[in-house]
Amino acid sequence: MKVLVINCGSSSLKYQVIDSDTEAVLAKGLCERIGIDGRLVYQKAGLDKEITEAAMPTHKEAIQMVLDALQNEKTGVIKSLKEIDAVGHRVVHGGEKFACSAKVDDEMIKALEECSGLAPLHNPANLIGIRVCQELMPGVPMVGCFDTAFHQTMPKKAYLYPIPIEYYEKYGIRKYGFHGTSHSFVSKETAKFLGMDLNHSKIIVCHLGNGASVSAVVNGKCVDTSMGLTPLAGLCMGTRSGDVDPSVVEFLGKKLNLDASGVLQILNKKSGVYGLSRGLSSDFRDLASAAADGNQDAKVALEVFAYRVVTTIGAYIAAMNGVDAIAFTAGIGENDKEIRKEIMSNFTYMGIQIDDEKNAVRGENVKISTDDSKVAVCVIPTNEELAICRDTVAILKG
Ligand code: AMP
Repeated sequence: MKVLVINCGSSSLKYQVIDSDTEAVLAKGLCERIGIDGRLVYQKAGLDKEITEAAMPTHKEAIQMVLDALQNEKTGVIKSLKEIDAVGHRVVHGGEKFACSAKVDDEMIKALEECSGLAPLHNPANLIGIRVCQELMPGVPMVGCFDTAFHQTMPKKAYLYPIPIEYYEKYGIRKYGFHGTSHSFVSKETAKFLGMDLNHSKIIVCHLGNGASVSAVVNGKCVDTSMGLTPLAGLCMGTRSGDVDPSVVEFLGKKLNLDASGVLQILNKKSGVYGLSRGLSSDFRDLASAAADGNQDAKVALEVFAYRVVTTIGAYIAAMNGVDAIAFTAGIGENDKEIRKEIMSNFTYMGIQIDDEKNAVRGENVKISTDDSKVAVCVIPTNEELAICRDTVAILKG
Protein backbone atom coordinates (compact mmCIF):
# COMPACT_ATOMS: atom_id res chain seq x y z
CA MET A 1 0.00 0.00 0.00
CA LYS A 2 1.10 3.58 -0.64
CA VAL A 3 0.36 5.60 2.49
CA LEU A 4 0.45 9.39 2.64
CA VAL A 5 1.39 10.49 6.17
CA ILE A 6 0.32 14.01 7.08
CA ASN A 7 1.42 15.97 10.16
CA CYS A 8 -0.42 19.28 10.10
CA GLY A 9 0.69 22.17 12.31
CA SER A 10 -0.89 25.61 12.58
CA SER A 11 1.31 27.14 9.85
CA SER A 12 3.22 24.13 8.60
CA LEU A 13 2.67 20.63 7.32
CA LYS A 14 5.04 17.69 7.10
CA TYR A 15 4.35 14.80 4.75
CA GLN A 16 5.77 11.49 3.57
CA VAL A 17 4.65 8.87 1.10
CA ILE A 18 5.63 5.43 2.34
CA ASP A 19 5.35 2.08 0.58
CA SER A 20 4.03 0.02 3.47
CA ASP A 21 5.23 -3.26 1.96
CA THR A 22 8.89 -2.27 1.86
CA GLU A 23 8.58 0.59 4.39
CA ALA A 24 10.57 2.72 1.92
CA VAL A 25 9.97 6.47 1.92
CA LEU A 26 9.10 7.35 -1.69
CA ALA A 27 8.91 11.11 -1.16
CA LYS A 28 8.86 13.52 1.76
CA GLY A 29 8.89 17.18 2.58
CA LEU A 30 7.08 20.03 4.22
CA CYS A 31 5.04 23.15 3.61
CA GLU A 32 6.04 26.14 5.68
CA ARG A 33 4.60 29.58 6.33
CA ILE A 34 1.04 28.56 5.43
CA GLY A 35 -1.19 31.63 5.72
CA ILE A 36 1.86 33.93 5.61
CA ASP A 37 3.45 33.47 2.18
CA GLY A 38 4.25 29.81 1.52
CA ARG A 39 7.16 27.48 0.80
CA LEU A 40 7.06 23.87 -0.38
CA VAL A 41 9.97 21.53 0.22
CA TYR A 42 9.71 18.31 -1.79
CA GLN A 43 12.17 15.46 -2.01
CA LYS A 44 11.80 12.30 -4.02
CA ALA A 45 13.88 9.43 -2.63
CA GLY A 46 17.39 9.55 -4.08
CA LEU A 47 17.04 13.09 -5.47
CA ASP A 48 17.92 16.51 -4.11
CA LYS A 49 15.36 18.66 -2.27
CA GLU A 50 13.28 21.01 -4.43
CA ILE A 51 12.15 24.26 -2.86
CA THR A 52 9.24 26.21 -4.33
CA GLU A 53 8.03 29.54 -3.01
CA ALA A 54 4.30 29.81 -3.71
CA ALA A 55 1.26 31.39 -2.12
CA MET A 56 -0.43 29.11 0.42
CA PRO A 57 -3.22 31.17 1.98
CA THR A 58 -4.67 28.07 3.66
CA HIS A 59 -3.85 24.39 4.28
CA LYS A 60 -5.98 23.56 1.23
CA GLU A 61 -3.54 25.19 -1.20
CA ALA A 62 -0.63 23.64 0.72
CA ILE A 63 -2.01 20.09 0.50
CA GLN A 64 -2.99 20.64 -3.15
CA MET A 65 0.62 21.63 -3.89
CA VAL A 66 1.90 18.52 -2.14
CA LEU A 67 -0.48 16.34 -4.17
CA ASP A 68 0.60 18.09 -7.40
CA ALA A 69 4.27 17.58 -6.54
CA LEU A 70 3.64 13.89 -5.85
CA GLN A 71 2.08 13.59 -9.33
CA ASN A 72 4.70 15.70 -11.14
CA GLU A 73 5.68 14.03 -14.43
CA LYS A 74 9.44 14.23 -13.78
CA THR A 75 9.89 13.99 -10.03
CA GLY A 76 6.56 12.61 -8.85
CA VAL A 77 6.10 9.21 -7.23
CA ILE A 78 2.51 8.51 -8.34
CA LYS A 79 0.72 8.91 -11.67
CA SER A 80 -2.62 9.77 -10.13
CA LEU A 81 -4.18 10.18 -6.71
CA LYS A 82 -5.80 6.77 -7.17
CA GLU A 83 -2.43 5.30 -6.20
CA ILE A 84 -2.70 6.72 -2.67
CA ASP A 85 -4.29 3.83 -0.79
CA ALA A 86 -4.62 5.53 2.58
CA VAL A 87 -3.79 8.67 4.53
CA GLY A 88 -2.47 8.55 8.10
CA HIS A 89 -2.89 11.76 10.09
CA ARG A 90 -0.96 12.71 13.18
CA VAL A 91 -3.40 14.09 15.75
CA VAL A 92 -2.03 15.65 18.92
CA HIS A 93 -4.83 15.17 21.45
CA GLY A 94 -7.30 12.31 21.54
CA GLY A 95 -8.38 12.95 25.14
CA GLU A 96 -9.67 9.80 26.86
CA LYS A 97 -11.63 8.77 23.79
CA PHE A 98 -8.75 7.23 21.86
CA ALA A 99 -6.46 4.62 23.36
CA CYS A 100 -5.20 3.64 19.91
CA SER A 101 -5.24 4.86 16.34
CA ALA A 102 -8.65 4.78 14.65
CA LYS A 103 -10.33 5.20 11.29
CA VAL A 104 -11.41 8.74 10.51
CA ASP A 105 -15.20 9.03 10.42
CA ASP A 106 -17.82 11.58 11.44
CA GLU A 107 -17.75 10.31 15.02
CA MET A 108 -13.99 10.76 15.27
CA ILE A 109 -14.18 14.26 13.84
CA LYS A 110 -16.82 15.16 16.42
CA ALA A 111 -14.68 13.70 19.21
CA LEU A 112 -11.68 15.67 17.99
CA GLU A 113 -13.67 18.87 18.00
CA GLU A 114 -14.62 18.12 21.59
CA CYS A 115 -10.94 17.56 22.52
CA SER A 116 -9.78 20.74 20.81
CA GLY A 117 -9.99 22.75 24.02
CA LEU A 118 -7.27 20.49 25.45
CA ALA A 119 -4.88 21.28 22.57
CA PRO A 120 -6.04 24.59 21.13
CA LEU A 121 -2.85 25.15 19.12
CA HIS A 122 -2.68 21.69 17.60
CA ASN A 123 -6.00 19.87 17.24
CA PRO A 124 -7.70 22.54 15.07
CA ALA A 125 -4.76 22.35 12.62
CA ASN A 126 -4.90 18.54 12.63
CA LEU A 127 -8.63 18.70 11.91
CA ILE A 128 -8.10 21.10 9.01
CA GLY A 129 -5.60 18.62 7.54
CA ILE A 130 -8.14 15.81 7.81
CA ARG A 131 -10.95 17.86 6.26
CA VAL A 132 -8.83 19.13 3.36
CA CYS A 133 -7.59 15.61 2.59
CA GLN A 134 -11.18 14.35 2.65
CA GLU A 135 -12.13 17.07 0.19
CA LEU A 136 -9.18 16.59 -2.16
CA MET A 137 -9.09 12.78 -1.93
CA PRO A 138 -12.70 11.70 -1.53
CA GLY A 139 -13.14 8.03 -0.75
CA VAL A 140 -9.52 7.44 0.32
CA PRO A 141 -9.56 5.78 3.78
CA MET A 142 -7.92 7.79 6.53
CA VAL A 143 -6.64 6.98 10.00
CA GLY A 144 -5.96 9.30 12.94
CA CYS A 145 -2.92 8.50 15.11
CA PHE A 146 -2.90 10.27 18.45
CA ASP A 147 0.08 11.56 20.44
CA THR A 148 -1.87 10.80 23.59
CA ALA A 149 -3.15 7.29 22.75
CA PHE A 150 -0.15 5.25 23.90
CA HIS A 151 -0.34 6.81 27.37
CA GLN A 152 -3.98 5.85 27.95
CA THR A 153 -2.84 2.71 29.75
CA MET A 154 -1.46 4.75 32.67
CA PRO A 155 -3.08 3.82 35.97
CA LYS A 156 -5.16 6.38 37.85
CA LYS A 157 -2.44 6.88 40.45
CA ALA A 158 -0.15 8.11 37.66
CA TYR A 159 -2.56 10.23 35.67
CA LEU A 160 -4.70 11.90 38.34
CA TYR A 161 -3.60 15.29 39.63
CA PRO A 162 -4.18 15.68 43.36
CA ILE A 163 -6.82 18.42 42.89
CA PRO A 164 -10.55 18.14 43.61
CA ILE A 165 -11.70 15.07 41.68
CA GLU A 166 -14.67 16.87 40.13
CA TYR A 167 -12.30 18.88 37.93
CA TYR A 168 -11.14 15.62 36.39
CA GLU A 169 -14.71 14.38 36.06
CA LYS A 170 -16.16 17.65 34.71
CA TYR A 171 -13.29 19.05 32.67
CA GLY A 172 -10.99 16.10 31.99
CA ILE A 173 -8.06 17.71 33.85
CA ARG A 174 -5.47 14.94 34.19
CA LYS A 175 -2.12 13.84 32.83
CA TYR A 176 -2.45 12.73 29.19
CA GLY A 177 1.15 12.64 27.99
CA PHE A 178 2.42 13.30 24.46
CA HIS A 179 4.95 11.97 21.92
CA GLY A 180 3.02 8.69 22.30
CA THR A 181 3.65 7.58 18.73
CA SER A 182 7.38 7.91 19.37
CA HIS A 183 7.32 6.26 22.82
CA SER A 184 5.31 3.37 21.40
CA PHE A 185 7.58 2.92 18.35
CA VAL A 186 10.83 3.22 20.31
CA SER A 187 9.78 0.91 23.15
CA LYS A 188 8.83 -1.79 20.62
CA GLU A 189 12.00 -1.26 18.58
CA THR A 190 14.12 -1.42 21.75
CA ALA A 191 12.69 -4.79 22.74
CA LYS A 192 13.10 -6.11 19.19
CA PHE A 193 16.66 -4.76 18.89
CA LEU A 194 17.75 -6.26 22.22
CA GLY A 195 15.96 -9.56 21.58
CA MET A 196 13.77 -9.02 24.65
CA ASP A 197 10.20 -10.21 25.06
CA LEU A 198 8.19 -6.97 25.03
CA ASN A 199 5.49 -8.66 27.11
CA HIS A 200 7.99 -9.26 29.92
CA SER A 201 9.94 -6.03 29.88
CA LYS A 202 10.48 -2.77 31.74
CA ILE A 203 11.70 -0.03 29.41
CA ILE A 204 12.29 3.68 29.88
CA VAL A 205 12.12 5.80 26.73
CA CYS A 206 13.77 9.24 26.78
CA HIS A 207 12.39 11.24 23.83
CA LEU A 208 14.74 14.23 24.00
CA GLY A 209 14.10 16.74 21.25
CA ASN A 210 13.06 20.36 21.24
CA GLY A 211 10.04 19.03 23.11
CA ALA A 212 11.14 16.32 25.54
CA SER A 213 9.46 13.60 27.57
CA VAL A 214 10.30 10.36 29.33
CA SER A 215 7.98 7.38 29.62
CA ALA A 216 7.93 4.20 31.66
CA VAL A 217 6.73 1.17 29.72
CA VAL A 218 5.93 -2.15 31.38
CA ASN A 219 5.18 -5.16 29.15
CA GLY A 220 4.67 -2.81 26.20
CA LYS A 221 2.19 -0.58 28.04
CA CYS A 222 2.84 2.95 29.27
CA VAL A 223 2.58 3.26 33.07
CA ASP A 224 3.80 6.84 33.42
CA THR A 225 5.08 9.73 31.36
CA SER A 226 6.44 13.18 32.10
CA MET A 227 4.19 15.45 30.02
CA GLY A 228 0.76 16.27 31.39
CA LEU A 229 -2.50 17.92 30.48
CA THR A 230 -0.41 19.77 27.91
CA PRO A 231 3.10 19.31 26.50
CA LEU A 232 4.39 22.02 28.87
CA ALA A 233 4.83 19.65 31.83
CA GLY A 234 7.81 17.57 32.94
CA LEU A 235 11.38 17.99 31.71
CA CYS A 236 13.23 21.21 30.97
CA MET A 237 12.94 21.63 27.17
CA GLY A 238 14.20 23.84 24.34
CA THR A 239 11.96 26.80 25.23
CA ARG A 240 9.48 25.13 27.64
CA SER A 241 9.97 25.26 31.39
CA GLY A 242 8.58 21.82 32.18
CA ASP A 243 7.39 21.46 35.78
CA VAL A 244 7.46 24.57 37.95
CA ASP A 245 5.62 25.34 41.16
CA PRO A 246 2.13 26.41 39.90
CA SER A 247 2.40 29.47 42.16
CA VAL A 248 4.96 30.86 39.72
CA VAL A 249 2.06 31.75 37.42
CA GLU A 250 0.44 34.14 39.91
CA PHE A 251 3.75 35.41 41.32
CA LEU A 252 5.28 36.26 37.95
CA GLY A 253 1.96 37.57 36.63
CA LYS A 254 1.88 40.14 39.43
CA LYS A 255 5.51 41.15 38.90
CA LEU A 256 5.14 41.55 35.14
CA ASN A 257 1.51 42.69 35.10
CA LEU A 258 0.53 39.73 32.95
CA ASP A 259 -2.51 37.46 33.04
CA ALA A 260 -2.16 33.65 33.23
CA SER A 261 -1.94 33.35 29.43
CA GLY A 262 0.85 35.91 29.36
CA VAL A 263 2.87 33.95 31.91
CA LEU A 264 2.17 30.66 30.13
CA GLN A 265 3.50 32.24 26.96
CA ILE A 266 6.78 32.83 28.82
CA LEU A 267 6.80 29.29 30.21
CA ASN A 268 6.18 27.88 26.71
CA LYS A 269 8.30 30.09 24.50
CA LYS A 270 10.97 31.83 26.56
CA SER A 271 11.96 29.26 29.15
CA GLY A 272 13.76 25.92 29.16
CA VAL A 273 17.42 25.93 28.11
CA TYR A 274 16.68 29.04 26.01
CA GLY A 275 15.58 31.03 29.04
CA LEU A 276 18.31 29.66 31.28
CA SER A 277 20.96 30.62 28.71
CA ARG A 278 19.60 34.21 28.61
CA GLY A 279 18.14 33.63 25.16
CA LEU A 280 21.43 32.39 23.70
CA SER A 281 19.80 29.41 21.97
CA SER A 282 17.39 26.51 22.38
CA ASP A 283 19.64 24.37 20.18
CA PHE A 284 21.91 22.01 22.08
CA ARG A 285 24.69 22.33 19.51
CA ASP A 286 24.92 26.08 20.18
CA LEU A 287 24.74 25.57 23.93
CA ALA A 288 27.41 22.85 23.94
CA SER A 289 29.82 25.00 21.96
CA ALA A 290 29.10 28.07 24.12
CA ALA A 291 29.62 25.98 27.27
CA ALA A 292 32.92 24.68 25.86
CA ASP A 293 33.95 28.34 25.34
CA GLY A 294 33.29 29.02 29.02
CA ASN A 295 29.71 30.39 28.91
CA GLN A 296 28.43 29.59 32.42
CA ASP A 297 24.73 30.14 31.57
CA ALA A 298 24.91 27.61 28.74
CA LYS A 299 26.71 25.15 31.03
CA VAL A 300 24.08 25.50 33.75
CA ALA A 301 21.22 25.20 31.21
CA LEU A 302 22.65 21.88 30.01
CA GLU A 303 23.08 20.72 33.61
CA VAL A 304 19.46 21.56 34.48
CA PHE A 305 18.26 19.71 31.38
CA ALA A 306 20.29 16.58 32.20
CA TYR A 307 19.35 16.70 35.90
CA ARG A 308 15.63 16.66 35.14
CA VAL A 309 16.07 13.66 32.88
CA VAL A 310 18.09 11.91 35.61
CA THR A 311 15.50 12.49 38.32
CA THR A 312 12.65 11.42 36.03
CA ILE A 313 14.44 8.21 35.04
CA GLY A 314 15.16 7.56 38.72
CA ALA A 315 11.50 8.05 39.61
CA TYR A 316 10.36 5.67 36.86
CA ILE A 317 12.84 2.96 37.88
CA ALA A 318 11.22 3.15 41.32
CA ALA A 319 7.70 3.21 39.83
CA MET A 320 8.43 0.07 37.79
CA ASN A 321 10.46 -1.54 40.58
CA GLY A 322 13.35 -2.04 38.17
CA VAL A 323 14.32 -1.49 34.55
CA ASP A 324 15.63 -3.74 31.78
CA ALA A 325 16.45 -1.13 29.16
CA ILE A 326 16.74 2.61 28.73
CA ALA A 327 16.38 4.06 25.21
CA PHE A 328 17.36 7.52 23.97
CA THR A 329 15.67 9.03 20.94
CA ALA A 330 14.83 12.28 19.04
CA GLY A 331 17.19 15.14 18.08
CA ILE A 332 19.14 15.39 21.34
CA GLY A 333 18.69 11.77 22.45
CA GLU A 334 19.98 10.46 19.11
CA ASN A 335 22.80 12.93 18.55
CA ASP A 336 24.19 14.26 21.80
CA LYS A 337 26.61 11.68 23.22
CA GLU A 338 27.81 14.05 25.96
CA ILE A 339 24.32 14.50 27.42
CA ARG A 340 23.66 10.73 27.27
CA LYS A 341 26.93 10.07 29.06
CA GLU A 342 26.21 12.71 31.70
CA ILE A 343 22.69 11.43 32.34
CA MET A 344 23.81 7.83 32.61
CA SER A 345 26.73 8.71 34.93
CA ASN A 346 24.12 9.06 37.70
CA PHE A 347 23.19 5.38 37.39
CA THR A 348 26.58 3.74 37.92
CA TYR A 349 25.27 2.91 41.43
CA MET A 350 22.99 0.35 39.82
CA GLY A 351 25.63 -1.11 37.55
CA ILE A 352 24.98 0.86 34.36
CA GLN A 353 28.16 1.42 32.34
CA ILE A 354 28.44 3.29 29.03
CA ASP A 355 30.85 2.20 26.29
CA ASP A 356 32.34 5.44 24.90
CA GLU A 357 33.07 3.97 21.48
CA LYS A 358 29.53 2.67 20.99
CA ASN A 359 28.14 5.90 22.42
CA ALA A 360 29.80 7.75 19.52
CA VAL A 361 27.92 5.75 16.81
CA ARG A 362 25.14 7.73 15.09
CA GLY A 363 22.18 7.19 12.84
CA GLU A 364 21.30 3.60 13.70
CA ASN A 365 20.02 1.42 16.53
CA VAL A 366 22.95 0.90 18.87
CA LYS A 367 23.48 -0.50 22.35
CA ILE A 368 25.70 2.07 24.07
CA SER A 369 26.11 0.23 27.37
CA THR A 370 28.98 -2.17 28.00
CA ASP A 371 28.32 -5.90 27.73
CA ASP A 372 28.56 -6.27 31.52
CA SER A 373 26.23 -3.32 32.22
CA LYS A 374 23.34 -4.41 34.47
CA VAL A 375 20.84 -2.54 32.30
CA ALA A 376 20.96 -2.17 28.50
CA VAL A 377 21.12 1.46 27.34
CA CYS A 378 20.41 2.11 23.66
CA VAL A 379 20.00 4.82 21.08
CA ILE A 380 16.97 4.01 18.93
CA PRO A 381 16.19 6.58 16.21
CA THR A 382 12.50 7.39 16.31
CA ASN A 383 10.37 7.32 13.19
CA GLU A 384 6.93 8.71 13.89
CA GLU A 385 5.94 8.74 10.21
CA LEU A 386 6.70 5.04 9.84
CA ALA A 387 4.79 4.35 13.07
CA ILE A 388 1.78 6.24 11.66
CA CYS A 389 2.08 4.34 8.37
CA ARG A 390 2.19 0.99 10.22
CA ASP A 391 -0.81 1.92 12.36
CA THR A 392 -2.75 3.14 9.34
CA VAL A 393 -2.25 -0.13 7.51
CA ALA A 394 -3.01 -2.20 10.64
CA ILE A 395 -6.27 -0.33 11.30
CA LEU A 396 -7.44 -0.51 7.68
CA LYS A 397 -6.62 -4.21 7.36
CA GLY A 398 -8.56 -4.72 10.58
P1 AMP B 1 13.74 17.30 17.46
O1 AMP B 1 12.73 18.16 18.15
O2 AMP B 1 13.65 15.85 17.82
O3 AMP B 1 13.82 17.54 15.98
O4 AMP B 1 15.15 17.76 18.05
C1 AMP B 1 15.68 19.02 17.73
C2 AMP B 1 16.83 19.34 18.66
O5 AMP B 1 17.84 18.32 18.62
C3 AMP B 1 17.59 20.60 18.24
O6 AMP B 1 16.99 21.76 18.74
C4 AMP B 1 18.94 20.38 18.86
O7 AMP B 1 18.91 20.91 20.16
C5 AMP B 1 19.09 18.89 18.97
N1 AMP B 1 20.12 18.35 18.08
C6 AMP B 1 20.03 18.06 16.78
N2 AMP B 1 21.22 17.62 16.31
C7 AMP B 1 22.09 17.64 17.34
C8 AMP B 1 23.46 17.31 17.52
N3 AMP B 1 24.19 16.85 16.50
N4 AMP B 1 24.00 17.46 18.74
C9 AMP B 1 23.27 17.91 19.77
N5 AMP B 1 21.96 18.24 19.67
C10 AMP B 1 21.39 18.11 18.48
